[in-house]
Amino acid sequence: MNKSQLLQQDREHLLHPFTDFHDLGKQGTRVITNADGAYITDIDGHRMLDGMSGLWCCNLGYSRTEIADAIYEQLKTLPFYNSFFQCTTIPSIELADALSEVTPEGMNNVFFTGSGSEANDTNLRIIRRYWDLKEQPNKRIVISRTNAYHGSTIGGASLGGMSGMHKQFQALDYITHIQQPYWFGEGGDMSPEEFGVQAARSLDEKIQELGPDNVAAFIAEPIQGAGGVIIPPETYWPEVKKVLAKYDILLVMDEVIFGFGRTGEWFGSDYYGLKPDLMTFAKAVTNGYFPLGGTMVSDRVAEVIKAKGGEFTHGYTYSAHPAACMAGLATLNVLRNDKIIDNVRETTGPYLAKRWAELGDHPIVGEARSLGMVGALELVKDKGSRARFDDKCTAGGVCRDMSIKNGLVMRATGDTMIIAPPLIITTEQVDELVEKAHRALDDTAKALA
Ligand SMILES: *Cc1c(COP(=O)(O)O)cnc(C)c1O
Repeated sequence: MNKSQLLQQDREHLLHPFTDFHDLGKQGTRVITNADGAYITDIDGHRMLDGMSGLWCCNLGYSRTEIADAIYEQLKTLPFYNSFFQCTTIPSIELADALSEVTPEGMNNVFFTGSGSEANDTNLRIIRRYWDLKEQPNKRIVISRTNAYHGSTIGGASLGGMSGMHKQFQALDYITHIQQPYWFGEGGDMSPEEFGVQAARSLDEKIQELGPDNVAAFIAEPIQGAGGVIIPPETYWPEVKKVLAKYDILLVMDEVIFGFGRTGEWFGSDYYGLKPDLMTFAKAVTNGYFPLGGTMVSDRVAEVIKAKGGEFTHGYTYSAHPAACMAGLATLNVLRNDKIIDNVRETTGPYLAKRWAELGDHPIVGEARSLGMVGALELVKDKGSRARFDDKCTAGGVCRDMSIKNGLVMRATGDTMIIAPPLIITTEQVDELVEKAHRALDDTAKALA
């Protein structure tokens, strides 16, 4: 089938996620046909360094035959069986055991799902079950943050704090949002340190306002990913920890992006020294090779939900799909055997930090920030005042197109350009990434002038 036929069929039959159907119908779409290592190639043969690891998931890149083989072997042996009704499969047991080894201390149980959104729905179910079994049924409210992303099911989207999403559905009424720790966008004249403390204290204020006896949990990404790679000021998490220590509230860390090595530690919770009660994962757990998600359940919660009788009336057909679990096991093996995470922490992460910071000198960049294998650039018209080019986020869209033209996949979140390259990227490829990003910025400045 040729390209124009494919594009026509795409237009006529495929509704894309998070897409303006009307605009896409006019512009057409980019057909990605193959990939290798840290690169993707489209139907025109245009090869691009994938600065986004697919959608934050292909942390080991695209050439991991051992993961593909593990899936294929499992599909031939036992392609499907469920873990409902006193049944289980060997891959699901083995992955549950392996996950309890690599996740933070005190997390020894897992509930598997098919995606990150489903896992956050599962969290809502577990949170309620936990407080009911503890005979504190008033604890119902879950606090999240504005501009957070926790998925796109009704539960996930309600937990998320994206105004564009909230306009298009009816959110659950027991979820409320506090300020995000986004210094560049919302810190005003405060220093990052002052702002971090203030943003953390807004959690305390919200708990006081609602009454601690009514608050069930606080959910957060360690670093906001889809919201624009918002790395909180260093004061933020220590202060949040102090607030949480005062109240009997569960901490849910959504590690769907930062789990499995992106910070240079296994989990963002390890990086920030946090002890979550529940921990959402998905995406990179299988290197994107098979859909799988889940939530790690701490001993504190597991002891309660396992100790008392009565069925937990929750589960998905594909919870602990055996082929997905084999993909997860193969991914964990590569992460451990090839010391991928150590390499990010000791070599490629610091190198990216150094090279990425250089982009901060570009005339249209107001801030260049990075941590481990993520980075962000704030596009501005005026560095001093942080003024944007316009209020329609034109600059982000232009820069994204220029980046792709220059052979680099960067994503635009408003006028914030973000990257999350595969963890296997070499220092030479970091140079290539920074050079291509630099060219994209030059082209963007020219186009907007
Ligand atoms: C992607 C994402 C989700 C949702 O995961 P899906 O697999 O798309 O349902 C949830 N939380 C965070 C932080 C994510 O980045």
